[in-house]
Amino acid sequence: MSYLFPNYQRKKLELIKGSKNTLIDQTGKRYLDFTSGIGVMNLGYNDPELNQVLLEQSSLLWHTPNLYENDLQEQVAEKLANGKDYVSYFCNSGAEANEAAIKLARKATGKSKIITFTNSFHGRTYGAMSATGQDSIHAGFEPLVPDFIYLPFNELEPVKMEIDQQTAAVMLELIQGEGGVLPADVSWIQAVQSLCKEHGALLIIDEIQTGIGRTGTFYAYEQYQIEPDIFTLAKGLGNGIPVGAMLGKRSLANFFGPGSHGSTFGGNKLAMSVACKVVERINQPAFLQDAQKKSGQLFSGLNQIAEKSKMITGIRGKGLMIGIELADQHTLSVVLEQLEVEGLLALKAGQTVLRLLPPLTITEKEIDQGLVIIEKVLNNLESQIGFSEKGE
Ligand SMILES: *Cc1c(COP(=O)(O)O)cnc(C)c1O
Repeated sequence: MSYLFPNYQRKKLELIKGSKNTLIDQTGKRYLDFTSGIGVMNLGYNDPELNQVLLEQSSLLWHTPNLYENDLQEQVAEKLANGKDYVSYFCNSGAEANEAAIKLARKATGKSKIITFTNSFHGRTYGAMSATGQDSIHAGFEPLVPDFIYLPFNELEPVKMEIDQQTAAVMLELIQGEGGVLPADVSWIQAVQSLCKEHGALLIIDEIQTGIGRTGTFYAYEQYQIEPDIFTLAKGLGNGIPVGAMLGKRSLANFFGPGSHGSTFGGNKLAMSVACKVVERINQPAFLQDAQKKSGQLFSGLNQIAEKSKMITGIRGKGLMIGIELADQHTLSVVLEQLEVEGLLALKAGQTVLRLLPPLTITEKEIDQGLVIIEKVLNNLESQIGFSEKGE
């Protein structure tokens, strides 16, 4: 009997230890990790430098309320601005970062309508859930926060029709993660940005999964030649220490004046000490170039597998955020199970997409190992399916 809510579909597997890009379960079995704990552990497991930073901060001070100055927050905020004029608000999760973004957009514009997109995922709190364009995530929780409008992703005409002087913001992921690793078109995003400017609406980019080097640049928005008014971060920011951030252009700063918004734990010293080091290490040209190189290796290996496999119908994504579209839903769960048996952990996204989010520290050798396992599992399944079809 479990004393937990059954709100997660858990595998019969407990990971108890990790080192670099490898995880170990309760039986001692080792797994190559192509999940990063859903895009969190961008620097891998048991990193000595991050351990050291956390240990040092833990013996100094864990927590002070946001009633006092916090130099670590200042340092992280300056690094996250990355040479641009953004200010930060720190919180503890992705949903909270989006919650802050939604509140800031409404307060700053004095308007309420927010356009988001079908298949998006923005989190589970009321605001973030209401922003999420998936009926299955809303089911049973209505009434939602009003004035969210869901439009089809990557289509310009519906945005043109819907955006108006009542629109506070357009909010989107540059690559829809949970929805199926669906990248936005550059020309679409640029047109959406122009429409926002034209109608006085803010452009909110949810970089919770795509940010912190995941797509090969520090932020995915750099690859779209845009400057969001507001963007949000979480997953990779603390390499497993819970932390989120909402960044907005400095011109928006005064709309979040004293008393407007806040969080007890947000920007906690333990979280900030780790985030500071994570950002310092990932936002380096050499580190990001290396991640791009690994991405190229993984994409080309997957494309070679796809050429031979009937089970793969498409491969997409950017950097080390990769979606492999499979022929059907049934195949996906079997593939994931078989990969696990063979010692490779991967994820799903949407109903038919095998999602790979390896740590950015993944090595060439590990990518080759992962590709061998993926090819083997797909080949085995293909011959089994072929066999059963002939048997019918
Ligand atoms: C994971 C995710 C969230 C939610 O983050 P939580 O920390 O689980 O609240 C929001 N948006 C995107 C794009 C995500 O991938």
